[in-house]
Amino acid sequence: MKYKIRDWVKKYNGYEFVGEVRAAFTKTTGETRYVVEEGKSGMLHIFNENQLVPFNGKLVYCETCQLYHYAMD
Ligand SMILES: [Zn+2]
Repeated sequence: MKYKIRDWVKKYNGYEFVGEVRAAFTKTTGETRYVVEEGKSGMLHIFNENQLVPFNGKLVYCETCQLYHYAMD
């Protein structure tokens, strides 16, 4: 499997989803799936490997918005 538990990943395209891999498993068909916990909301979502890329950034606090944003290193 490409990713392991505790890796940080980002959804490849579409809506923003950045978070930590919390489970990696295979379906009965042998296809890989990952449960990713979104970094800010804690929401869980299941992705296949093609939907994810490694995330090497970090969560930073924005004084303007008074919210956390993701920033790339
Ligand atoms: Zn901001």
